Amino acid sequence: MSAAPALSSFEVAADALRQREFTRLAAAVVPTVDALRLLNGQQLRVRVAAMLERLGHELLTPETAADFVTMKDGNKYVVAFASPNELAPTPLGQLSRLHSVVVAANAVAGYFITPRGFTLDAEAYAATAPLKLVDGPKLVASITRSMAGVTLPDSYQAMCRQCGEIVQHRLDHAEAIPCRNGHPVAPTIARAALVMPKQEGGSTSSRTYTPPRRYSRQEVRAHNAKYQARMRKRKPRTAAPSPDHLPELGLENDGGEF
Ligand SMILES: [Zn+2]
Repeated sequence: MSAAPALSSFEVAADALRQREFTRLAAAVVPTVDALRLLNGQQLRVRVAAMLERLGHELLTPETAADFVTMKDGNKYVVAFASPNELAPTPLGQLSRLHSVVVAANAVAGYFITPRGFTLDAEAYAATAPLKLVDGPKLVASITRSMAGVTLPDSYQAMCRQCGEIVQHRLDHAEAIPCRNGHPVAPTIARAALVMPKQEGGSTSSRTYTPPRRYSRQEVRAHNAKYQARMRKRKPRTAAPSPDHLPELGLENDGGEF
């Protein structure tokens, strides 16, 4: 009976280890836009920091900073993030704020990152400012580019919830294994939670893996429909035959490359 308090301390540590190991393994997998939208602010920053470093940026700020400052090829950049609680497209005001930070930091450009989208006003502002807009699909594309050659580790650690011993689980095995003291320790990470069908919009929902959700499908669909309608509306302008010596302003085609 008196063992109960000690047990609960292993519970906390075991959960923390599980979370750490999941984050470590997930960092080796290209995420979907949906998966990026489920990250909290700090998780998104960690993900982006790893991407930037692999793409040749040196981080001058910690991963916990509100805005990142980076150096690449002798140029300084500022990287700003949308609040993860903000489901609406990023408005102009946040971009004019980033513009001011870019100027004050003597940076050459700023990146604004959101797993969602931007308002038309914000896009128009960025097109005439040293700002690059990175929405969900662009972020996935950049992360994909940064991860060429990265492979998923095949094992991870889990903690025995009875005695605190650490065991080494393999992602391709789904059976419990005994700790050094003979307690069974069940696998804490399902491979399918990491490796999801890629990119095909909506194809994850019919699989066994169902990500925890913060917003309803209707909200997402409504947002996407609005976004797509906006894109369609803009088509005539950007698709208008333009002489090739007349570069577009970069609304679409600069790709938010890092
Ligand atoms: Zn044990």
